[in-house]
Amino acid sequence: MIPILDLKAQYTALREEIHQALDAVLESGNFVLGPDVRALEEEVAAYCGCAYGVGVASGTDALRLCFAALGIGPGDEVITTPFTFVATANTISRSGATPVFVDIDPPTYNLDPEAVAAAVTPRTKAIVPVHLYGQPADMDPILEIAERYGLAVIEDAAQAIGAEYKGRRAGSMGLCGCLSFYPTKNLGAYGDAGMVVTNDPALAERVDVLRRQGGKTKYYHDVVGFNSRLDTVQAAILRVKLRHLERWQEARRQIARRYDALLADLPVTTPYVRPDVRHVYHQYTIRAPQRDALVEHLQRQGIGTMIYYPLPLHRQKLYADLGLAEGSLPHSEAAAREVLSLPMYPELTAEQQVQIASAIAAFYGASLEG
Ligand SMILES: *Cc1c(COP(=O)(O)O)cnc(C)c1O
Repeated sequence: MIPILDLKAQYTALREEIHQALDAVLESGNFVLGPDVRALEEEVAAYCGCAYGVGVASGTDALRLCFAALGIGPGDEVITTPFTFVATANTISRSGATPVFVDIDPPTYNLDPEAVAAAVTPRTKAIVPVHLYGQPADMDPILEIAERYGLAVIEDAAQAIGAEYKGRRAGSMGLCGCLSFYPTKNLGAYGDAGMVVTNDPALAERVDVLRRQGGKTKYYHDVVGFNSRLDTVQAAILRVKLRHLERWQEARRQIARRYDALLADLPVTTPYVRPDVRHVYHQYTIRAPQRDALVEHLQRQGIGTMIYYPLPLHRQKLYADLGLAEGSLPHSEAAAREVLSLPMYPELTAEQQVQIASAIAAFYGASLEG
């Protein structure tokens, strides 16, 4: 049995450190924000090449609070990709603005800058590139479009902490970056948590006010806010894990190189990696002919896989009113039909990878050596 993700292996290795950190928080009696959250904000911001970090309750809230801080709302349009997790877009909708879905660049699954440029209207306020699977989107042309039209760029870096584009870290290139510490992410808490990272002090300040009911002084409220603070327990756990993150990122990258070699001669398409990026492999995602039959075959062999994502957002019921028919964003739709994510976590062994690759080879009637 090889699961797609094994969180227990990581916990087992860190048990002592985690329990020490937890004990310290429980003894302190401070459970919301506090010194651990402030320290984590500084450490994560530094890791991301940003001056400021503001811890919030989830990656979804990181996006939501950014849109609120920028005053994005009814009548506004925000350009993004349909080939992403729903929170990228439903937070735009929650703000009252309209998500404008444009198609992806097929090899990287990320926003196609030309499609972004073509979608700009006088109502456009922002662009939300997603660094899908841990590979940064092609940011320079996106930033150029944003500059030309005066748009904010909010990076959905939920899957890409530590990824780099031309030497710049995910989250540091646009106006701000939104991180998720959902347990399955490369840096995962033991519950929900997220962070906004930015180099813009005014934005950091606005998100800070918004997350604490719209005011910095208790019981004095300047704006309509949210309750979206980062728990101290999660911050303490994340601080322990952050010390190991680079090692885990390198392990993921090595696992990806091994998959690349093992799968090279099989009829699947291994991930395309831009030469100017550091991919952190939140997922190792292939394109596979007869994908659904392959999933069943692997399942019978006890190998876990996942499809991120089986239905692009413009084809979801929640966005039926956008009127984007099947075929309107063909690259996203083709990706949804063909992608398959294989087991990926730092503790995955070379032997397990051989087992996975052999099972894939057997499905296609090939041999690994072939
Ligand atoms: C995980 C994720 C989010 C949301 O993060 P949560 O912490 O689960 O709210 C947003 N966007 C993308 C691309 C994600 O993968």
